Amino acid sequence: MPELPEVETTRRGIAPLAIGRRIAAVHVYDPRLRWPVPPSLPALVAGHTIDALDRRSKYLLFRLTADTLLVHFGMTGSLRAFRDAPPRRLHDHVDIVLDSGVTLRYHDPRRFGAMLWLPPPAESHPLLAALGPEPFDAAFDADYLWRATRSRTAAIKLALMDNRLVTGVGNIYANESLFRAGIRPTTPASRLSKPRLGRLVAAVRATLTDAIAKGGSTLRDYVDSRGEPGYFQLDYFVYGRQGLPCRVCRAEIREIRQGGRASTYCRRCQR
Ligand SMILES: [Zn+2]
Repeated sequence: MPELPEVETTRRGIAPLAIGRRIAAVHVYDPRLRWPVPPSLPALVAGHTIDALDRRSKYLLFRLTADTLLVHFGMTGSLRAFRDAPPRRLHDHVDIVLDSGVTLRYHDPRRFGAMLWLPPPAESHPLLAALGPEPFDAAFDADYLWRATRSRTAAIKLALMDNRLVTGVGNIYANESLFRAGIRPTTPASRLSKPRLGRLVAAVRATLTDAIAKGGSTLRDYVDSRGEPGYFQLDYFVYGRQGLPCRVCRAEIREIRQGGRASTYCRRCQR
């Protein structure tokens, strides 16, 4: 599943080709995504110039002066750029053709993604309005996290994955960040001290930074590549390593379920 680092890598791969270009045409071959692509979308965005390409949580936002084109990758979506678009393949659902001749092609086998037009102000759209701070925002710090969790009896792992508290920290990165911070995923959020939450903030940023850096080496997958963009395989400390020895202390990595998702942790390194 594309997580924040994959979306950020897509943004960095596509931005140089998209920013400053005009959208010449949008071709929707199959509108049946998680929410149907609105029939009016091609006419609403065609002719507009892409002023900026932003990311908010796991949403990619094409800023078209006042309006915004939002792209979400769901479970299996990807967006790639072609200077000379090859014939469409199965699951290629939307083409965004730029005035330079570059085609941005949206591919999504399971069709849980989305492509929506947002009128201004885009930030008040229901998908964006309730989002908390980005992990790299200055507003996401130990003080903020401490204040925001005092009344939360939920486990810190679930709090960390709540987009209203901080956006874009999915299951993989929640598990890895908690390991790096030495915090057990089941600890009630309200019981964590400010210094420990400060370590968690640093761990979230370090984990995502490593994944984005890893993504840098796959940027070419987003331009003129017919292969699927790779999802980054970090050298995980705990994610997917249940039953294996901890890379730090050799104790066996445990797995439990929280909120329907797998949590993996080291009972010796994480308290
Ligand atoms: Zn350990």
